Amino acid sequence: MKPSEAIENIEYTRRWMGCESDFSEEALDMAIFALEKQIPQKPEMIWDTTFGKTRPHCLVCGASNPTGANYCWNCGQRFISEEES
Ligand SMILES: [Zn+2]
Repeated sequence: MKPSEAIENIEYTRRWMGCESDFSEEALDMAIFALEKQIPQKPEMIWDTTFGKTRPHCLVCGASNPTGANYCWNCGQRFISEEES
């Protein structure tokens, strides 16, 4: 199952179980939040004056990451690797 499918699954369950469910809303929110980070995003390549070169920047939190990073060091967002893009 892909993370996006898991999110759909949780949201479907949440919609149909509603207040009868034993899941807490907070737990479901946390699960969806964690799953969203697993859906790879293409980081934006931006010139980084600190390092004097172009580096991948996370679209979620804006952090500058090392070239070839698979995950954002700051927020944990998964990146599309160079081979996948
Ligand atoms: Zn980030």
